[in-house]
Amino acid sequence: MDIRSTTVSVPLEAPLRHANGCHWGRFVRTIVEVEADNGLIGLGEMGGGGESAEAVFRAMKQYLLGHDPARIEEMRFRIANPTASLYNNRTQVLAALEFACLDILGQAWGVPVSEILGGRLRDRVPFASYCFFRYANAAGEGEVRTIEQVAANARALKKKHGFTSHKMKAGVFPLDYELEAFRALAAEFPGDGVRFDPNAVWSVEEAIRFGQGIEDLRNDYLEDPTYGLNGMRRVREKVRMPLATNTVVVNFEQLAANALDTAVDVILLDTTFWGGIRACVKAAGVCETFQLGVAVHSSGELGIQLATMLHLGAVIPNLSFAADAHYHHLTDDIIDGGLMRYEDGMIRVPTGPGLGVKLNRDKLREYHEHYRRLGGYPYDQDPLRPGWAPIIPNDRWADPRDDRRPRVPD
Ligand code: MG
Repeated sequence: MDIRSTTVSVPLEAPLRHANGCHWGRFVRTIVEVEADNGLIGLGEMGGGGESAEAVFRAMKQYLLGHDPARIEEMRFRIANPTASLYNNRTQVLAALEFACLDILGQAWGVPVSEILGGRLRDRVPFASYCFFRYANAAGEGEVRTIEQVAANARALKKKHGFTSHKMKAGVFPLDYELEAFRALAAEFPGDGVRFDPNAVWSVEEAIRFGQGIEDLRNDYLEDPTYGLNGMRRVREKVRMPLATNTVVVNFEQLAANALDTAVDVILLDTTFWGGIRACVKAAGVCETFQLGVAVHSSGELGIQLATMLHLGAVIPNLSFAADAHYHHLTDDIIDGGLMRYEDGMIRVPTGPGLGVKLNRDKLREYHEHYRRLGGYPYDQDPLRPGWAPIIPNDRWADPRDDRRPRVPD
């Protein structure tokens, strides 16, 4: 067997702003290929990349030589043993290798991954629009800053992809400005669901004020308005809508704590953060038992990871809400056929064997070169907010009237 990993950088339509910083016009991802002894190649994907990430995947080979790719549960203990994770937190590495093993098994058995995971309950997975504040791109296009731009961008996304649920990512500008912007977005689509995510940047009291200011909207949920299970619990006492998280319930320990003393209503499952698709299916089962809501989280995927999200969305009975994806902000993909298409706000679950996506080696080469040319970028920095740190101290908000265009590489 062999394990290869390649860092790629795929351009975005425009830089995406968020509470921590900014995606500087591209996503950096690691594409993983696991080649089994029978010649089948399974695909995986992980966020970030570069020499250190590639070295980690090279090092995994010594753990997995002679390992049967069907023994996925055993692999967890080989490389991501919970007691060793104090020193080696390999949850995301495990996830990428799990994707690849499932892909190999599906190809060997001639079935899609969703069939291995229990069988699909739906053929298409619905997605939310995922609207961002954006800087203009190098061509001077794509800025989303003003209230009018927020509404126009959301309208354009619905028109193009057919979304019926709309997510606004924020935590960039002062609270009252974002409240006005979100209400303007919701007013565009009175029959659709809306959701707001400031990436846990507010205090409990700010979160309560915002939440109470949107109680009349058709909210799917309010996502991570503040940080911590205790903070979320205090917000939940005062705000009449479900709360969701992808930050404070991201493993089984935290899920147990949340079941025993509920702070969050809807758990956003991420196939990378939870350590694989199967971990998310297990977590969805726990949520079903405790009657917590479930949706699919996006950590900035290319087509391989998107396939894992689609197979997950296809097999969990309690998918209570549309999934999230950054995917439509990309200009291209590294899989054959280019970007997958949305139809009526949904994406078809791949039906080919395994994950059902194939690596386009020309694209892999092209975007690896793109990575080599531009390198990484500081995800947690915003070119117009030097020194900003989310949560504490949070007194240096971006000014919505500031229409300067920072130098953000393509
Ligand atoms: Mg979130």
